[in-house]
Amino acid sequence: MKLCYNQATTMRNSTLEQDLQYCERYGYAYIEIRIDQLKEYLTRHTVEELAAFFRASNLKPYAFNGLEEFNYRTAEEFKSIRSDMELCCAVSDLLQCKMLTMDPKFDVGHLTVPQIKADTVKAVREILAYTDQYNMKLAFEFCGAPACCVNTYGQAYDIVQAVDSPNFGIILDFFHFYAMGSRLEDLRASNVRKLFMVHIDDVEDYPLGQATDADRVWPGEGVIDLDGIMQELLALGYDGVFSLELFRPEYWEMAAEDVIRTGKEKSDAFLSKYYR
Ligand code: ZN
Repeated sequence: MKLCYNQATTMRNSTLEQDLQYCERYGYAYIEIRIDQLKEYLTRHTVEELAAFFRASNLKPYAFNGLEEFNYRTAEEFKSIRSDMELCCAVSDLLQCKMLTMDPKFDVGHLTVPQIKADTVKAVREILAYTDQYNMKLAFEFCGAPACCVNTYGQAYDIVQAVDSPNFGIILDFFHFYAMGSRLEDLRASNVRKLFMVHIDDVEDYPLGQATDADRVWPGEGVIDLDGIMQELLALGYDGVFSLELFRPEYWEMAAEDVIRTGKEKSDAFLSKYYR
């Protein structure tokens, strides 16, 4: 088990330079690099400088985050996604960062689950045709929101199985799992090798379908059945990366260093109940 930091947690009150410094200081093993923050960093520094930081640090990059709303795109709309994908692939060897996250589109219209599956599988295969040249892993993250076209674990895992590539797997985010009523039995039926990362968080108590990313709280301080999920992960033999990912405006008002230090303490306290 390794703890990772997702830059969304301080996306309004920090920079990549600061997140790197504080994550290294407080002992995270990995960081998920937001593509917007990477692009901003590259206006001030070179990718060689970033690679040099990682070579000199215990902190390592785990994933680029990510390709947003990648499916149901026209060729024109896909251009910005393609340019993000090409940037991540181009720097992936130098940074030793070989994973790219991706999430599905919102508001695609009134489509059936099989229709969405067919389109999404096709879109993923087109992206893999490019990223496989770099041996990048694509980590698919469903979003637990009514308007998202893939919004439960079972629906997302079905797409992962249909794509059937060693370079395509799923992200389990506690909030997204909870927010649209994903089922523990679908998690239980998973192949652990397809589980590329777990995003850790919790959420305040709202009616089904009404909680949003902004309502996320530190893991263990909300209403999600985290113990139920963790017991399934242990039973599957999951021993991978847990990445702290919150989008809480209240935490964006704090000093970034305080968020990152507190996040480490809260995550360690939560995970130590399950992993030595
Ligand atoms: Zn997430």
